[in-house]
Amino acid sequence: MRSAGLRWLRGWSLPLFSFFFLAPSLTAQAIRLHVDLTDAPRNIYHAHLQIPAHAGEMSLVFPKFIPGNHRPSGPIGALTGIRMEAAGHSLAWQRDAVESYEFHVTIPTGVNTLNVSLDAITSLDSAGAGGPAASSNLLDLNWNAVVLYPKGARSDDVKFEPSVTLPAGWKFGTALQVAHTAADEVEFSPVSLTTLVDSPLIAGVHYRKIELSKPGETPIHVMDVVADAEPDLAMTPQDLAAYQKLVAETGELFGARHYRHYDFLLTLSDQVGGHGLEHHESNDSATSERMFLEPDLHMLNADLLPHEFTHSWNGKYRRPTGLATPNYQEPMIGDLLWVYEGLTEYLGTVLAERSGLWTDEQFREELAGTAAMLDHEAGRTWRPLEDTARSVQMLRFSGAQWRSWRRSLDYYSESQLIWLEVDAIIRQQTHGQRSLNDFCRRFYGGESGAPKVVPYTFDDVVRTLNEVAPYDWAKLLHQRVDETSTHAPLGGIERGGWKLVYNDKPNLFAKAGEQLSKSASFSYSLGFSVGAEGKIGDVIVGSPAYQSGLGPGMKLIAVNGRKWTPSVLHEAVKAAQGSDQPIELLVENAQFFKTYSVAYHDGEKNPHLERVSDQPDILGDILKPMTH
Ligand SMILES: [Zn+2]
Repeated sequence: MRSAGLRWLRGWSLPLFSFFFLAPSLTAQAIRLHVDLTDAPRNIYHAHLQIPAHAGEMSLVFPKFIPGNHRPSGPIGALTGIRMEAAGHSLAWQRDAVESYEFHVTIPTGVNTLNVSLDAITSLDSAGAGGPAASSNLLDLNWNAVVLYPKGARSDDVKFEPSVTLPAGWKFGTALQVAHTAADEVEFSPVSLTTLVDSPLIAGVHYRKIELSKPGETPIHVMDVVADAEPDLAMTPQDLAAYQKLVAETGELFGARHYRHYDFLLTLSDQVGGHGLEHHESNDSATSERMFLEPDLHMLNADLLPHEFTHSWNGKYRRPTGLATPNYQEPMIGDLLWVYEGLTEYLGTVLAERSGLWTDEQFREELAGTAAMLDHEAGRTWRPLEDTARSVQMLRFSGAQWRSWRRSLDYYSESQLIWLEVDAIIRQQTHGQRSLNDFCRRFYGGESGAPKVVPYTFDDVVRTLNEVAPYDWAKLLHQRVDETSTHAPLGGIERGGWKLVYNDKPNLFAKAGEQLSKSASFSYSLGFSVGAEGKIGDVIVGSPAYQSGLGPGMKLIAVNGRKWTPSVLHEAVKAAQGSDQPIELLVENAQFFKTYSVAYHDGEKNPHLERVSDQPDILGDILKPMTH
């Protein structure tokens, strides 16, 4: 691909392309990196690098394309306080005039170490997800935010000796190997830049380590949890059993593990940016502070860890060629994100159910909500799924306004439906003898051991699917991914023995989400959702609300002459069922008031899956755990 140079291009032809294999070529001298994290509660990390250097021009780069973010999200705007010096003398540096992630400096004769100090402002960089990385009680360190490395080097070839100073008394978790600790100073064993960026660290006042492996079992799986308060760390015996079962289920599903040990790094906090970022030997996930304590939060977040864990196989070990870049400056090409993220989304939800984090009903309610949302997306008529992946930079942080017309990061959710369809087709074609489980074992299994990357192409996916069950997979997948459509791909639900229906019973996930965000959804009836202050979130193109002239961002004031509340609007929708009168909505739009008449008489519409009794329950078979 692109201008990566022949050396890297040849790398594609190697069937097993690992940094383990490349280890001998690590530069003899390591970059020493110390990160002072004691200012974490103020969201600023102080770093000092000692970079091997020799006389002449030197160009250093700051990681730009961050793995798992799939886009140029390296927090360059947060990089502050850059000073360079050598042999006691300060050196003038210059940012490249074109590439803002690149710095130039002239190293004087007789110098062999360049000292660089820099700060990372972390108030908007929670693992690339926005929101702060640290709070009063906890922090998340992604090393890409505090490193510079020689321009042009492969990340496998650059060696680092990392260390940190933690805030006094804070405990930490990371997949890195500890070489030495003294009080709040921690030194880690030397690693390549690849492994460093792949091994974030979390720390906090309130910390708990939970063993997920049975005694004597290898590789070891642990969950390191930091939280804003001590009671948040309480995990029920049922949850512990479910996470242990999750580990067992992945072993059975994939048949191999591509890590030496695995750390679930879990941050429970409403003060930092929520995220989930995958790595080979860990995942860095941050979610609701009371996730272990409150059933609704538990349900809404239950598939997060199964998703990120699945990425160790799908995304880290097997990676689309366009995302398996030699360093963090090479552009990433996300054309196979519908496999990388989409299959992970599907397996994450299936594994949440198989391990007992969700009930069957919860799985189906989540699936129904996803299917309904996608089926009401008018944007699918102009934008193929592939374009949502190519547009990741633009779509990641775009708001709710006109979402259904613009589309969102649908390569996650829509691909979940596509992989369900693939699973159901395999099961039908082979009369239940084979399933997507067999694909997973062939594609992601192999030999267990240290992390390595095995890149793949579209053709590799199709070939392996055909080995499991012959079918015109290329045609089906091109249709689903490259072509526009009028409806969401609901074939997996239908082949699974179920159908998407709408009725007046609230969807479990929508209801929980609405209670937490104090919003109300009328998306599939009137055609909009509305926030606590009456602000209209999105108006679905083609819906009754859209036909009436309503638009996102307007503020709902009154319904049929009465002050707006969610229950007043619900009552109005109910009443309109037996009437031919439109629902009158008084709306404020940028200081002006207007009444819109919405002609809608079909009652409440909440999505669910309903069993089709004369067809086999393939979805039920999919949800059966593989271990007992
Ligand atoms: Zn993911």
